[in-house]
Amino acid sequence: MSIKSQIDRLQAELPVGVKLLAVSKFHPAEAVAEAYEAGQRAFGESRPQELKQKYELLPKDIEWHMIGHLQTNKVKYIAPFVTLIESLDSERLAEEIERQAAKNNRVIDCLLEIHVAAEQTKSGWEYAELVEFVEKGGFAALPHIRVRGVMGMATFTDDEAVVRADFERLAACKTSLAKYFGEEFDILSMGMSDDYRLALEYGTTEVRIGSTIFGAREY
Ligand SMILES: *Cc1c(COP(=O)(O)O)cnc(C)c1O
Repeated sequence: MSIKSQIDRLQAELPVGVKLLAVSKFHPAEAVAEAYEAGQRAFGESRPQELKQKYELLPKDIEWHMIGHLQTNKVKYIAPFVTLIESLDSERLAEEIERQAAKNNRVIDCLLEIHVAAEQTKSGWEYAELVEFVEKGGFAALPHIRVRGVMGMATFTDDEAVVRADFERLAACKTSLAKYFGEEFDILSMGMSDDYRLALEYGTTEVRIGSTIFGAREY
């Protein structure tokens, strides 16, 4: 199926209020342009330099989301224009985003990436540490960051019960954290090509879909 027909099919399937993020990492700018022609405007990338290159090549009304692990020394590449950093996963990274956002005179929207999967290799805050940081006023001291919600990845497994439990926990984290933030804390980003239908059952507001739209990635 073409990129356009996959996007059309997904848009028809997703309920109103659930955003489709097209994950274009490792695919060329031409593939993003094809999705753009089909009406898609929000794209996710995992590497800052690749994101910046595509930003420079492509139409300026595209929303760029950073979804991969972000090293502090690379925040500067995306700080001037990024729409949403979904992978805010540590205090150090928060401080660097604050610094770069201030330098660019903007407030950057971010999601708190929470570690719920069984794999230790996956990134994200441990929930208890995140709560500790939030409770001591960590984000109140970072005025150039606007925390918009939570992002996470489920365990990579065929065991549907495990994936459901991960999504349920992410949704519960979002609910528990809401009291610390304002009305703008309204995004629950979870669900990828293989598990987005399950994520819908647990109230996701944004699914991040790559291979279903663009085909397999060549690393
Ligand atoms: C690569 C990636 C996706 C998309 O994965 P697909 O299985 O290709 O849909 C979603 N979220 C994150 C954080 C990713 O790194």
